[in-house]
Parts: sequence; structure tokens; C-alpha cells
Amino acid sequence: MEQIGHYINGQAVLARGERSSDIFNPATGEITAKLGLGTHVEVEEAIQAATDALPAWAATPPVRRARVIMRFLQLLNEHVEELALMVSLEHGKVLDDARGEVLRGIEVVEFACGIPHLLKGEYNENVGTRVDSWSVRAPVGVCAGISPFNFPLMVPLWMFPIAIACGNTFVMKPSEKTPTSTLRLAQLFTEAGLPEGVFNIVNGDKEAVDALLSHPMVKAISFVGSTPIARYIQKTGIENGKRVQALGGAKNHAIVLPDADISSTVDALMGAAYGSAGERCMAISVLVAVGDIADPLVESLAHKLKDLRVLPGTNPEAEMGPLVTRQHRDTVLAFVESGVQEGATLVVDGRWTSNPEHGDGFFMGGCLFDNVTPDMKIYQKEIFGPVLAVVRIDSYDEALALINSHEYGNGAAIFTQEGHAAREFAAGVEAGMVGINVPIPVPMAFHSFGGWKGSLFGDHHMHGMEGVRFFTKLKTVTSRWRASTSTSQFSMPTMS
Ligand code: NAD
Repeated sequence: MEQIGHYINGQAVLARGERSSDIFNPATGEITAKLGLGTHVEVEEAIQAATDALPAWAATPPVRRARVIMRFLQLLNEHVEELALMVSLEHGKVLDDARGEVLRGIEVVEFACGIPHLLKGEYNENVGTRVDSWSVRAPVGVCAGISPFNFPLMVPLWMFPIAIACGNTFVMKPSEKTPTSTLRLAQLFTEAGLPEGVFNIVNGDKEAVDALLSHPMVKAISFVGSTPIARYIQKTGIENGKRVQALGGAKNHAIVLPDADISSTVDALMGAAYGSAGERCMAISVLVAVGDIADPLVESLAHKLKDLRVLPGTNPEAEMGPLVTRQHRDTVLAFVESGVQEGATLVVDGRWTSNPEHGDGFFMGGCLFDNVTPDMKIYQKEIFGPVLAVVRIDSYDEALALINSHEYGNGAAIFTQEGHAAREFAAGVEAGMVGINVPIPVPMAFHSFGGWKGSLFGDHHMHGMEGVRFFTKLKTVTSRWRASTSTSQFSMPTMS
């Protein structure tokens, strides 16, 4: 059985703690590896390596840091297929989707290659007589990242390439369910010429996270995961004097107006609701059907859903793979049962869990609920599975009010052919990422990713200039060079 450990100071390190967890192939249910869960000892080692590497890396000119990142980018592009297969085998998502994940992660590395430009400060000549002033962005120090299971490669790539480009060193704690592809990233970065200790990985669970949260050398924590843990990370990190960005869960709504094109809308919604088995923080999980479009919409979705090809993610025919673990699949099934109990109409029942083709894989089919109401658990909670809830509503205003009163505000989308309605929606919806006839509006790397309300805790979104700001501290220098001798000044300087 393969044993997975950590990556510290430029090399793979065996796990030394006594605790371990199983890594599965969700398509077969087999245990494929044992993951050593890091303790405070390994976290201390990783932070020490990052601390030792910090002065030289922070002093390396940004253009030379960028050249290392460019080599990393080249290696990533050469290993897309290998990385995608790793993600698919461990997470269960279909290979094409995993490939998309790798490419979206690579885009952040492309952005980080521009760091000499991105770090350019601001300069004012003569803020006072013979006084000049400029602002620079300095690295914050040792940074840490904690990531969820569902994007084992893309989410770490939102964090560490920008942090490292800014001159910081980094300790990453990947999800204990999907650690393998993140470890491969560390090997490739070393191969690209990254000095030892600049990027380290400690695998583990709460014990490792808590050791990072309490360590005085860690200056910034970047987190992506569920809302209860995001809240905990932000509170504890701030109490320990760190800057924190903590992205949480979601319940993304799509409003479909009566004038929407049914065929293209249904195609978009199928991918957004059932792609990656709904295990995406930007998945559409609530469809708000306005007026009489509800009947044809539900009918068309049900028709397509019955033909959804649920197969192992590595099967080229697959449209949806298994869920990540048996436990998570069973949680999703319990949500479906609760929807039935609360009186929603289960139009397509995907609660089958065995199929001769699937062995003991963690599969289920896609579920479609109609007549869902806001008091139901399946409306209020994040299910994070292949379950779409249709809420029928009379008007656009009521639909917008419904979205804006939900606890979460990650993404939201509208499907319409009317520009005015789309414009009003973009301005009025309380969500961090908005799609107009785009079901999953994940911003490109040079914009920033993040939600509102219960979907993000902290002040900064991920990547883009928000990432550069989060991973740097601002310093403003005021300088005077004068020819004559000076006298002391006791009043507040006014630079005149
Ligand atoms: P999770 O919150 O269970 O785990 C995320 C990370 O936190 C993991 O590394 C895990 O080891 C760690 N963790 C878990 N419990 C902890 C605890 N008690 N104390 C300290 N650390 C702990 O999330 P998950 O199940 O891996 O991922 C799915 C969740 O992530 C969903 O809620 C999804 O919406 C969210 N997500 C959000 C975004 C976003 O950008 N907003 C992106 C991807 C996933």
C-alpha cells in the first residue's frame, strides 16, 4: 500500500505521526493509499524551512522569481494529462473536467509570471518641496494555505503561486481526501528551480491546521472550504494576529426568466448542476423559475437528466462520476430523503447506489426536485451533490429578493434575452460572482474569485490583484534630500 507523507524543504518526507487516513478511488471504492496525518512536529519543520528560506527569496528580484515561475508554468503545461488523471482518480470527476481544473489553475500561474509589473508601486515627486514619496508592496512573510477536496489542484494554485511570486514562502495543507496532485505540484516547482523551503506541504487534518493557525511565524492564512470551518479559521487566525482570507460554502441560484431560450438554458444548467457531481462551490443548486417557463423547463431538465451518463470519471463516455467518499454520498442521499419528507416533488430520483458496472464505487444518479420552498432543508443547506432544487416564483422582483435573503452569496446567474433585466440583476444581486447567460461565472485569473455574505470571511478575494494585495504589505517611503542644513520641526509635517 502506498504511503503518502509530506513535502518539506524541497523533498518528500515520510509521515512520522501515528494517525493516518485512507485515500480512495471513488469509482471502485478501493483504498489506494494511506495518508500520514501531520502533527505539530511536521508543521514546525515546514514552518522552519519556510522561515529559513524567506530572507533570500524575499530579496530575490521579482524578475528572477518570475523566471522560476515561468519554468513551473512550462512544466505544468507538459504534465496536464498526468495531473488531470491524478485528480480524476482521487476525486472522481470526469477526466475532461479534471483537465479543465488543471488549465484554470495554470491560468493563475500565467498571471503570477507578471509579478514584476504587478508589484509596481506608486510614486509622487515633490509631495513637498524637494520631498518625494513612493509606495511599495513588501512580502508578508511565511504564508499558509488550506484547501478543500473538490479542487485539489486549482484551489492551491489560486494561492501559492501568487504568494511566492510576491516574495513570501509558503506551507500548504491540502485536503486529506485528495492530496496527491498537490504533492506533484511541489515536485514540479522544485524541478523548475524553486529554492528549497520556499514551498512546503504538510498533509493532515484539524491537528495540522490548528498548528498552522497558532504558529507565530505564519503571517497570512488563505483558506477555502465549508462555511463553518471558514468561520473558525478566520476567527482563530485573527485572534492569533494573522491576516486571513477564508472562502466558504455556497448555494448558487440561477433565475430563469420567461423569455429565456429553453434549449440553451437547459444545456447550461445540466452542466452547472450535475458536472463534477455537484461538488463545486459554483455549482447551480437552485433554479428559480419565473412565471410559466417552469413547466417546460422542468420537463426538459427531467428528460435530459434521465439520460445522464454516470460512469467512472476516467471513462471517456462519462458525464458525471462518483462522489468523493461513501460518507459524503450518504450525506447527499439523506438530504434527498429529507426533501421527499418535507413535501418537495422528486421529479427524477437518482437514489440508486449500485450498478453492475460500478462495483463498490460511491455513485448515485442526478436528482431533480420541483416545488421546493424556502423553508425546506434542501433549499437552505449546501448539499454539495448532484441535486437541483426548482423553486417556482411569480415575478423577477420576488426571485431577486429570494436570492438576496439567502445565507450564502457566492455565485448567481440569470438566463434571459432581455438586456435591461440582466443589467438590473447584475447591479442588484448580493453575490460576489454573477453570470448573465453564463451558469458558472468563475472569474479569470486576472480578475478575482470570491463570494459575499456566508461565502467569504475576510476582506480579500482570491487571485488577481486581490491576491497580490493579500500577500503583500504596503510600505510608503517619504524622502527629502536638501542641500542646506536643517532645523528641528515640532509641528505635524505638512510638506509645503
Ligand atoms: P472542509 O471545510 O471540510 O475542509 C476544507 C479544509 O479544512 C480541509 O483541508 C480540511 O482538512 C480542513 N478542515 C476540516 N475540518 C476542519 C476543522 N474542524 N478544523 C480545521 N480544519 C479543518 O471542506 P471540504 O469538504 O473539503 O470541501 C467542500 C466545501 O468547500 C464546500 O462547502 C464548498 O462549497 C467549499 N468550497 C468553497 C469554494 C469557494 O471558493 N468558496 C471553493 C471550493 C470549495
